[in-house]
Amino acid sequence: MNLYEENYLSKRPQHLCKMCGKCCRVVTAPHPYSKLKEMADSGDEGAKDFLSIFVPYDSIEKAREVDSEIVDNIIRRLSEDGKYNEDDMTFYYCRYLQGNNLCGNYENRPILCRYFPSSPWAIVPPDCGFEGWLFLKREEDKQRIRRMKEELLELELLKKRTKDPSIIQKINAVEKKLQSNIDLFKKYGSQHW
Ligand code: SF4
Ligand code: SF4
Repeated sequence: MNLYEENYLSKRPQHLCKMCGKCCRVVTAPHPYSKLKEMADSGDEGAKDFLSIFVPYDSIEKAREVDSEIVDNIIRRLSEDGKYNEDDMTFYYCRYLQGNNLCGNYENRPILCRYFPSSPWAIVPPDCGFEGWLFLKREEDKQRIRRMKEELLELELLKKRTKDPSIIQKINAVEKKLQSNIDLFKKYGSQHW
């Protein structure tokens, strides 16, 4: 089991899923449809998996007719992160979602379904059963980042108190590592936490 599986996936409380089917009914992808098709043709497994189950809606309006709340929630979240571009935007539905909201492909569903929501920062539909738990996990991420920032301040003070170049070099290396960990969360606003 890798760290991601151990620290996140295996801890997800699956019983929180309400089996509402919203995350199968209206979804989007981080790449435009044309790019996804290109990626799938070049053998990208993630793109192949996605297009094996998801079918594009003809337009955003068609997706809105199915569930405007989910569409607007996705657009709002992407806009907040500066990632919303209507021209590149396609919404999809899963061909396997059944009328009773259950999966018609459960045993063979791809990894992207098995891992959903795959991170505390994943966009989930309004009223998804995981919302509260994801909020707590995001707070844990923020606390970790704040601790790293405190460590950076302490290291700065330590550096001012020493003249030993080898110690300064070691401190610089640790600072670099901490800063790169903080920067990993920059897209979620870590500079303001
Ligand atoms: S939207 Fe959330 S609660 Fe609903 S089926 Fe998907 S994961 Fe479960
Ligand atoms: S394959 Fe099943 S779990 Fe995955 S999106 Fe489709 S209906 Fe949902």
